[in-house]
Amino acid sequence: MADIAIFRYMAGIVDKSEFLHYKNLLLAKQQELSTGKSLLGSIPRAGEPHGDPVDLAAGETSATVQMRLKQTDSKLLRAIEDALTRFRQGRFGICEECGQPISKARLEAVPWARYCRDCKERQDSQS
Ligand SMILES: [Zn+2]
Repeated sequence: MADIAIFRYMAGIVDKSEFLHYKNLLLAKQQELSTGKSLLGSIPRAGEPHGDPVDLAAGETSATVQMRLKQTDSKLLRAIEDALTRFRQGRFGICEECGQPISKARLEAVPWARYCRDCKERQDSQS
């Protein structure tokens, strides 16, 4: 399996610079999650009024949301670690279900994706 994946990379389906690009995306996201700092979240959004009374009143709700986000984060961190493992094994970007290359657009949006869109959709509709 690994040999086939490596052959696909060598065949130019995913070239080396793209490979590094996705790895950087994964590492950046991993860094962001493990430090708890979102690069996007730390930048104040322009044009938004500060001290919105609705925000202050919703303090408890936002703590709950934070907790839920943390759970999502740890799941995501695991998925990213898995993806980095697949890098080392030469299986990154290959669908674990059907063995076809995962589309670049999908990897760009979800670099830790394990399945191609077709297989993911099939799984989602089954569960
Ligand atoms: Zn697939």
